Amino acid sequence: MRRIFRVVHLVYECLFGFLLQDVLRFLWLSKERLHVIRHPPSICQDPVCGMDVIIAESRYPAIYHQMTFHFCSAQCRDHFLEAPALYAGAVRREDVKVMPKRRVLRIATGAALDEACRRLRAMMGVTSVQAEANRLHVDYDLRQVSLSQIEAEIQAAGIVLKGGLHALRRSLWRFTEHNELQNAARSGPQACCNRPPTPR
Ligand SMILES: [Zn+2]
Repeated sequence: MRRIFRVVHLVYECLFGFLLQDVLRFLWLSKERLHVIRHPPSICQDPVCGMDVIIAESRYPAIYHQMTFHFCSAQCRDHFLEAPALYAGAVRREDVKVMPKRRVLRIATGAALDEACRRLRAMMGVTSVQAEANRLHVDYDLRQVSLSQIEAEIQAAGIVLKGGLHALRRSLWRFTEHNELQNAARSGPQACCNRPPTPR
């Protein structure tokens, strides 16, 4: 009889304990959810350049995997959309490595070199611009800006870049940059049958 009483008591304690834990967990999650609903975040971080963006004033949003991201500029939003997994993944921003690039762009026609330099220096991720005769030396971080965006800005300043072999070389650079971004997006922690992803 005593044994039966102990077993019943043990079963009762286990059931009650689990129930209590579940109730507490539910209440805790509800509290967190309630807090998010009552106090939605007013500022978020641009995942491309790291700038703070006021959500209420955001002009450049993008939706990826049912989540809304906000950007400081059309440039960052367009760059994000080229390889969203690179910026929306589990990798922490401080762990992201810079992807430095240096290009020499040859000019065919156009005299607005100063305007082109001004536009390029205003771009996110462009670290250095130097004009020399009919060439533009541009340093940038591929993680924030790509060659195609730089070329578009140069053309918007009224400058035409050289064709022929130089155009072929630029298209090869664009191709390799695109691949580099896609590979970087895929190189995050991957799950495996015997190796779970590293927690970050
Ligand atoms: Zn930005």
